[in-house]
Amino acid sequence: MKKSNLPSPEIARSVNPPIPFRNTYASLPREFFSPQRPSHVPDPQWVRVNAPLANELGIDAEWASSADALQVFSGNIIAPGSQPIAQAYAGHQFGNFVPQLGDGRAILLGEVIDVYGNPRDIALKGSGRTAFSRGGDGKCALGPALREYLVSEAMFALGVPSTRALAVVTTGEIVRRDEDFAGAIFTRVASSHLRVGTFAYFAAREDLGSLRILLDYALARHGGGSAMGLLEQCITRHAALVAQWMSLGFIHGVMNTDNCSISGETIDYGPCAFMDAFHPNCVFSAIDRQGRYAWSRQPEMAQWNMARLAETLLPLIEEEIGDPLPAAEATVASFAKCFNDAFLERFSAKFGIVNDPQNSELISSALRLMASQHADFTEFFLQLTAVAEAGDRTLWLAAFSDKSAANEWLDAWQDHQPNAAVMRMANPILIPRNHLVEQAIQGGYRGDFSLFHRLTEAWKNPWQPEHNDLVFATPPLPHEVVRQTFCGT
Ligand code: AMP
Ligand code: MG
Repeated sequence: MKKSNLPSPEIARSVNPPIPFRNTYASLPREFFSPQRPSHVPDPQWVRVNAPLANELGIDAEWASSADALQVFSGNIIAPGSQPIAQAYAGHQFGNFVPQLGDGRAILLGEVIDVYGNPRDIALKGSGRTAFSRGGDGKCALGPALREYLVSEAMFALGVPSTRALAVVTTGEIVRRDEDFAGAIFTRVASSHLRVGTFAYFAAREDLGSLRILLDYALARHGGGSAMGLLEQCITRHAALVAQWMSLGFIHGVMNTDNCSISGETIDYGPCAFMDAFHPNCVFSAIDRQGRYAWSRQPEMAQWNMARLAETLLPLIEEEIGDPLPAAEATVASFAKCFNDAFLERFSAKFGIVNDPQNSELISSALRLMASQHADFTEFFLQLTAVAEAGDRTLWLAAFSDKSAANEWLDAWQDHQPNAAVMRMANPILIPRNHLVEQAIQGGYRGDFSLFHRLTEAWKNPWQPEHNDLVFATPPLPHEVVRQTFCGT
């Protein structure tokens, strides 16, 4: 990397009112992070700032869209009170352990206490090289920044635990990938950036002292009470999270342990995607060649991640209860029941039927029907809800070429006297369809952010969209279908 002769970021004295930063992570021992100022960028320009989220974080919404804020969210100015750092972590990437990953293109500016009294991290993504960048440039192209903004905010509106999007700015720089792209900086908000990989980082170094400090920090931040309690809480939250993803047709795409949060929030919107046509083996990520993180494999992989978390916690659990293995193994095994219960609950609601394990076969047979006839996942449930409401099955049937198999399944389902009101609440009308995300990104690269803004607004109301936004409910036309997604890193 060429040494930049641009000025290093100024400490702002005039930012008023400042973001009320605390820096609890920067107060941990130096093994946990590396101090890191963001790189200077030549020409920061606003794409969007999330005023309601700023308010929630106790940041004045008017300030949040000011010229000072633009400098802060581009990394050119460090707000008073912020001690920017890059966090250390490890991770299993597609199953292979990498003992040091860390924030290679992210910088934690600090934490704030939100209006609900909860600590929230504010971090820049794409603000230049850090001690953990390895061969990378630490930058972010505009496309991935827009994707993360759109999808993470849509996930929030859909009720899915998720990191949030506070801002996107363009930098005036070119980011070199396989092509040249406009550069951007994304401001991410998370209830913390603790990952399974953060524990793995210290466990791999057999640094028990740091593991204890990390555990105490995680307990203070996320509760759980003990190492065992933290593991149980993580397992319950991730089992519920994956069931919720699957109920929306969401495929995370890169469920490595460094992208698996201790808080149970969805984190890292790299190659993620929502399915159009349903298939359990559906994969979008260009780098997931084995289908490790396919739609239907997500519970197994989340449980695998939880087993890796349990391993890192063993010495700490041992300090609490003696022989840690039987309890840890039983807890990891409990993921399966937690997930199955959560999956059944979500899908029973989607079908408007009673939450009863005896109904599992009706659900499975519907998924087989959808897969064999390439039915659009979201549309299937919306048309099914319409059948529950009005009784007419014509529109629902239109998605199937083998009408007799579809009719047979529908008869069986109707015997359950489905509850249409429950279905309405469980089946969103809008999801962030890939082709729309892709069109918004392409618009952004042309300097036209109108679709990006329109989708951001539309996806705030996935259950009851404005009439004008119903155009975004339609599945893609054959030439619009997006089959592959890329991290863009
Ligand atoms: P991800 O697959 O996005 O979760 O990233 C995996 C690891 O690669 C993390 O340690 C990232 O910080 C790092 N990384 C990704 N993109 C870049 C980049 N452009 N420059 C430096 N590090 C990166
Ligand atoms: Mg990551």
